[in-house]
Amino acid sequence: MKHNRLVIISYRLPFSIKTQNRVTTIKPSAGGLVTAVKSLDLSASAEKPIWIGCADFTQRTWEKYRQEVGDEFEYVPVFLDKATNKGFYNGFANSVLWPLFHYFPSFVDYHDEYLTAYQAANQAVCQKVLELLKPGDLVWVHDYHFLALPQLIRESAPTATIGFFLHIPFPSNELLKLLPKRCRNYLLTGLLGADLIGFHTNDYMIHFLQSVQLTLGLPHTLARIQHQDRNVQCQAFPIGINYSLFYDAYDKPEVVREREELKKSYPGKIIFSVDRLDYTKGVMQRLDALEVFLQAHPEWKENLVFILVVVPSRDEIQTYWERKQMIEQAVGRINGKFATLTWVPIVYRYGSLAFPQLLALYTACDVAMITPLRDGMNLVAKEFIASRQDQRGVLLLSELTGAANELGEALQVNPLDEYEVADQLDRALTMPSEEQRRRISVMQKRISDYDVKQWAGDFFDALLVSQRGKEISH
Ligand code: UDP
Repeated sequence: MKHNRLVIISYRLPFSIKTQNRVTTIKPSAGGLVTAVKSLDLSASAEKPIWIGCADFTQRTWEKYRQEVGDEFEYVPVFLDKATNKGFYNGFANSVLWPLFHYFPSFVDYHDEYLTAYQAANQAVCQKVLELLKPGDLVWVHDYHFLALPQLIRESAPTATIGFFLHIPFPSNELLKLLPKRCRNYLLTGLLGADLIGFHTNDYMIHFLQSVQLTLGLPHTLARIQHQDRNVQCQAFPIGINYSLFYDAYDKPEVVREREELKKSYPGKIIFSVDRLDYTKGVMQRLDALEVFLQAHPEWKENLVFILVVVPSRDEIQTYWERKQMIEQAVGRINGKFATLTWVPIVYRYGSLAFPQLLALYTACDVAMITPLRDGMNLVAKEFIASRQDQRGVLLLSELTGAANELGEALQVNPLDEYEVADQLDRALTMPSEEQRRRISVMQKRISDYDVKQWAGDFFDALLVSQRGKEISH
């Protein structure tokens, strides 16, 4: 009997267990992937789906609290030793792959020991997968932490059905060529262990196909690569959001209350941005553009505020905490330059936002200024559009995001060109409400048609097609 059981692998499990001052709290994650997977109709499966991820808690904590994390999935934590996890996660994943795949080669800090830790971590997770894998299972591997995993699984389970989805950009081969040859061969061959490889955009997919052709000499037809008597199908699946969650939040009492407070505190125009603290998000360049704008448009003095929210992230890595200092210096300098005794142009917050606060900011602002230097997709842009039940507000969006492909009605800018960004900011602040409505309504239709449920369903269906294809050919 076929199980069609789903086995998910992602770096983080979909919950966190944290102990502080001897109090342990267990929180489910609200990330897109969790919503996506939970939206799948898994009723055809005879068994509970499995979710494997790396633990950020101890084995003892797990034994004590495992009953309390819910039973929708069979959760399987992998316990890596500290040194391996550091070399794998902070090292190879976030100091090599992340900067390189986001076109920041000068931020790459490559060491062979990082690659060794990455191999060890992928091997440890593979071991866990193999212990649990049964015939008929559908394995779905997520993201750049596990590029090697599909092939590792394939070596011990040649007939397994394996899908892989990359949540960050896949860069041009010119970038990949900066890695040592053995490293790039290892990563590409690792991915080719999958039956189906998903990307956010066609561009990322084409980059991958070109890299495979140029590095491994394997051609492709209709985005399909023939490799070791198997077909590897590549396809773009642009991830969506839980549209109704954001759309319906507009008139939730807590959101209304927070929005009214914001409007009272800031009666002029509100420009808003929220990003994780990451050099890819272009916060420094955004501040440069704001400075150019304020210099060129003194008429906006005291009539607007830029609410800049930066969410802490990866603060063990030097390039990240350095960035925090740079941002804070720039905010201080710009505020010092333009402030009056009763007004500052930038309200800066370093910390995360609760959902009602985030939604209040999405729905109170006049302009959402989302200008990453590179972003695989950028969900904030889609969430902002979805949240505007009132069909007001303008999205100022970097053309270097995956989301730009689907959000053509946004004011799109090159985030590196502070003069263009400043000009478009002026255009956004003065855009007639009818034009705002027209642009937002088209984008709302598009992202509600392809929401996260649709995304997960499409990937899952494509994986089932791969599985059936293999059954027929055997
Ligand atoms: N977000 C969050 N906490 C906050 C602010 C935002 O969890 O304090 C969420 C936001 O709603 C979005 C995600 O973080 O879903 C950011 O996703 P995006 O694709 O924009 O960027 P990423 O951080 O994944 O690079």
